[in-house]
Amino acid sequence: MINDEVLEGQLPEFKEEAPVPEVKEEVKEQEQKPEQAQEPESLVGKKLRYKSGDSDKELKEKYKEVRDEKHLSKIGDTLGQNFEIREGWLEVDKLLMGERAMYYPQDWRFRIRPATVEAIRNWSTIDDENVLSVDEVFNEILKSCLSILTPMGPLPWGNIHPWDRLWFILLIREYTFVEGETAIIYKEPCVECDNDVEFKLISSALMYDMPDKEVMKHFNVEEQTWYINPQEYDLSWPEPITLYLPTLEKEANIKAWMINKLQQNRNAKIDQVFMRFLPWMAPKIAKDLTIAQRQIREYEIKFKSWDEDMFSFMDDVIKNINILPSTKLITKCPVCGEENTSEIRFPDGISSLFNVSRKYKKFGKK
Ligand SMILES: [Zn+2]
Repeated sequence: MINDEVLEGQLPEFKEEAPVPEVKEEVKEQEQKPEQAQEPESLVGKKLRYKSGDSDKELKEKYKEVRDEKHLSKIGDTLGQNFEIREGWLEVDKLLMGERAMYYPQDWRFRIRPATVEAIRNWSTIDDENVLSVDEVFNEILKSCLSILTPMGPLPWGNIHPWDRLWFILLIREYTFVEGETAIIYKEPCVECDNDVEFKLISSALMYDMPDKEVMKHFNVEEQTWYINPQEYDLSWPEPITLYLPTLEKEANIKAWMINKLQQNRNAKIDQVFMRFLPWMAPKIAKDLTIAQRQIREYEIKFKSWDEDMFSFMDDVIKNINILPSTKLITKCPVCGEENTSEIRFPDGISSLFNVSRKYKKFGKK
């Protein structure tokens, strides 16, 4: 499992939220997502629900249409379906992202390609216990397999949001192993009838806790920022606050800054609470450590200027505008119909994510 207990708890909590999404049964997801992505405005703040109902034929039909039209949608479908194009770049249909697509500029396009043999080889040497190594390989896969196209030119993979990281990883995985030889499935006894229920880890099964509708009026889709006036909430704070969406790049640069700081001085104090706010307060953090130091210092001064009321208000703000991937998988028991949940996990470790199953008999037991 991914956690970020690196450097004896020196890493901020926000990292931890990134790669652990919630997963639910894929069929229901298919019914919801296309609709949501087509009309993001009307779905602002709407939560993805577990129980979408099995009767919604219209949505199913719509999904099928979209899928037939844009064959990309097949990625994210059940592993095991045949897919002809397997090499080269393939545009990611934003419909697959559901309402999370709103948190990227509309004119951005994402393309993925299958993981290379080399990347897969690196992946198989991953040390599941070592979070930094997991992080590195995750990023390595994104670096070589994800490209972002914008009207201003291509952007590096680090411009995606932390909450989408595992989603892209799984999508690339599904594209790489499109024949489905490596579906990650595990079984648990049904809470109701004790028969085995199957949980499947695929991109379309990921679930997210989205911001509520009532707070969405503060999100500026064009600017991709949160703009909040504390006075609207009866605080005497003089000026409105602008918050920016966290990105993998920003988090990586903050992490590099922290590691550097701790290397220089093992007893350096890093304010964990401030670290939670930083990726939202800063539009960017430089890769250059000297510049990063200056930037972070500046935000820290701002952060420290908040009085108690302002701090607890901002704490609420961050909690409410964050997108939280859930750690749960949900699936329905095929025998009694009871819904079962399970913690998302990688039964054979994270390294098994990109391991190709052997086509030969194993030599010996070691
Ligand atoms: Zn059951």
